[in-house]
Amino acid sequence: MIEGLKDTILKYAAEGGDMLDVIVGQKDAKDKILASLLAGHHTLIEGPPGVGKTTMAKHIAAAMPPITVVADCPYHCDPQSPVCPRCKAKAAAGEELTPATISGEQRFVRLQGSPDLTAEDLLGDIDPTQAFKYGPQDYRVFLPGKLLKGNRGIVFFDELNRVTEKLQNALLQVLEEGIATIGPYDVDYPAGFMMIATMNPRERAGVEELSDVLLDRFDVVKMGYPETTDMEKSIILKHGLKIDGVQVSDKVLDSVVTLVRSTREDPWRKEMDQPASVRAALSLYEKVQAMARLENRLEASVADVRKVASSSLGSRIKPSPESKFYDDPFKLIEELVSNVLEE
Ligand SMILES: [Zn+2]
Repeated sequence: MIEGLKDTILKYAAEGGDMLDVIVGQKDAKDKILASLLAGHHTLIEGPPGVGKTTMAKHIAAAMPPITVVADCPYHCDPQSPVCPRCKAKAAAGEELTPATISGEQRFVRLQGSPDLTAEDLLGDIDPTQAFKYGPQDYRVFLPGKLLKGNRGIVFFDELNRVTEKLQNALLQVLEEGIATIGPYDVDYPAGFMMIATMNPRERAGVEELSDVLLDRFDVVKMGYPETTDMEKSIILKHGLKIDGVQVSDKVLDSVVTLVRSTREDPWRKEMDQPASVRAALSLYEKVQAMARLENRLEASVADVRKVASSSLGSRIKPSPESKFYDDPFKLIEELVSNVLEE
């Protein structure tokens, strides 16, 4: 458990406040994530892109209290018990470690899962010359990787399922035993972080499975699209840009949301491998205002929605192989518009 996280969650719980109010709706997912963090477990959020997973993780970090670190140490070493080679060397030489304070917001690091990510990038590397000189177990041999930047904070690992099986195994070892195997060496790994990882829904094409043993190290929480039309409307009003004073009436906003949500519901859902995300809805909302402005109007209309829908959503969805518009997502959106929006 990292410093201050438990107290922060309990403080909100005692006051009856919503610690994750930055996310509209999703009460069930939010409760489960907080419970899992409170229990000191790493969390894996499974859900489509654009539902606020990053925002939520950042928000959790920002709610945490400041901590005292060694000044200028990128790994946020505790001056009382440093973990990185540089601070350890200083401490061993009897040098004083200058303290500094960092905010909760700074106790956050984001890692992007990809097949190119290597164990050395993530966990660190061994300096062969130093290893020869001091032996492989010496702290001076270890060159920390990106993961250690999340020391004493939240490590947000986006799309964890996109990393290689080899890296999954290396990470498992760190989470399980606090040991990283780097090349031929076993290094004691100071795994003083909480991990919030994400993966795309398993039914989506191109998604690798996470190994069962790695999944076993996480509490899995499912997060979906905003539950209701009204919730999605408030998300858009909260996060969407207002373009140059253009008014968007409730009727126009409604048509934006209806259109986007139809891509996620039958009968249109089966035409899509990937339906439109919340980000797609935001983009359409902004584009509609821009179109009105371009035509010197200060009020957007449903006709604007109809006009920009295809160019705005076409690149943000993926037709399924069974769809007759498999090759032409733009045409698929045009078809959707003419069926879903009233003339
Ligand atoms: Zn350090």
